[in-house]
Amino acid sequence: MRIGVMGGTFDPIHLGHLVAASEVAHRFELDEVVFVPTGQPWQKSHRSVAPAEDRYLMTVIATAADPRFRVSRVDVDRPGPTYTVDTLRDLRAELGDHDYYFITGADALADILSWRDTDEVLRGAHLIGVTRPGHALVDPGLVPGRISLLEIPALSISSSDVRARVERGAPVSYLVSPGVESYLLKRELYREST
Ligand code: NAP
Repeated sequence: MRIGVMGGTFDPIHLGHLVAASEVAHRFELDEVVFVPTGQPWQKSHRSVAPAEDRYLMTVIATAADPRFRVSRVDVDRPGPTYTVDTLRDLRAELGDHDYYFITGADALADILSWRDTDEVLRGAHLIGVTRPGHALVDPGLVPGRISLLEIPALSISSSDVRARVERGAPVSYLVSPGVESYLLKRELYREST
């Protein structure tokens, strides 16, 4: 099987994430895409992040209707900071030996050389960085054959914009799925983002 692993904070998950996962699944002929919301985001001390359980549930709500998508709790349930090497190890233990394609934002991917156990990450998965239009792409020659970059126009939607809109009372319909919109309003998330 060819399995996509869509890693992200998903704070909140928006339609750009869903379009990106769908497009990567199509281009790389993936059998399924497993969304993996992060646990404790160690690199985000500058802002508060919604609780992992809320981000996980919004991800489940947003992906529920698509038979190609599912959601894993591996990062939410593992104590301590989320490292991609652990994400891939845990998924391989749970799902078995398949071809894994780790998909995330190109900004996050640009930090790859500072990631823990970079060599193991690169051995464990093909890496796919998805970007919003106009974003400068990192050097694809970094690790030939193991990293791909893809521009996704729908990624002009961003989680930070969705949070800012909720905070000032602007609509987020058509930026997030209707179920996610209802959930974040019901739970009063992002009312006072920092
Ligand atoms: P981030 O820094 O919050 O995001 C950077 C940029 O990438 C943002 O513009 C974000 O847009 C976008 N992005 C993030 N995930 C995306 C996705 N799946 N699809 C499309 N765009 C995405 O990144 P992060 O969420 O903390 O981390 C992303 C993934 O990389 C996670 O799985 C994380 O565990 C992993 N990571 C691992 C290490 C490590 O192993 N040491 C270090 C850094 C990141 P939105 O805000 O709109 O999503």
